[in-house]
Amino acid sequence: MIEINQLCKTYQKQGEQPVHALRAVSLRIERGECVAILGPSGSGKSTLMNMLGLLDRPDSGSYLLQGRNVGELSERELAKLRNRTIGFVFQAFHLLPRTTALENVQLPLLYSDSDDPVGRSKRALAAVGLSDRATHLSHELSGGQQQRVAIARALVNEPDLILADEPTGNLDSTTQGEILELFSTINARGTTVIFITHSREVAATANRIVTLRDGALISDELATGVHA
Ligand code: ADP
Ligand code: MG
Repeated sequence: MIEINQLCKTYQKQGEQPVHALRAVSLRIERGECVAILGPSGSGKSTLMNMLGLLDRPDSGSYLLQGRNVGELSERELAKLRNRTIGFVFQAFHLLPRTTALENVQLPLLYSDSDDPVGRSKRALAAVGLSDRATHLSHELSGGQQQRVAIARALVNEPDLILADEPTGNLDSTTQGEILELFSTINARGTTVIFITHSREVAATANRIVTLRDGALISDELATGVHA
């Protein structure tokens, strides 16, 4: 599914020391895996996710996504591949305000000529257990429900890969457990899941834990897959 080799990214601001956000990171992730990217704040996790999600390009190194060398693709081709292949989930949910759950889920379909967008969005909401909240506005939902809507939105294009950046960072521990449970259900149905966390407890719910420190990959281990 994913093969990155010697990926480097350095941020250079004028008059400041360069920040080596990624230092020669190499990683191979197979279809169907559930991988946690673990590391303290500032270790390069979001930078890595932006690369994996085709939102940013590395300074050097290569990235093969489903066998395609993404470094050779134009912005337009990247956007198309991203829309078709990847669903994103963020810490702060990023739902549109004053918009219903169903409309939020439908958003990614506005950019593709899919048939039956409403039916597909309803099925995605059902998959996250929120059929009964379809007409609620974003602010009428709890944090956990908002994150479920965001996950349904990530699922609506039936992506091969879900990328989640600190998806439980804004949630209490009970809700966190429910969202992590949902990710394992999605993964069990065949979708590759990669989530970022700074918590070892959260990371332990994945099958594999990749640890970053100061932009470098320092360990890659099998996890127990037991829920926090
Ligand atoms: P994490 O997600 O693990 O907290 P990030 O990938 O966001 O870490 O950041 C890694 C390092 O790169 C940090 O030191 C951060 O300050 C720096 N960084 C991230 N984005 C930028 C940017 N756009 N410009 C300059 N420095 C950045
Ligand atoms: Mg981050």
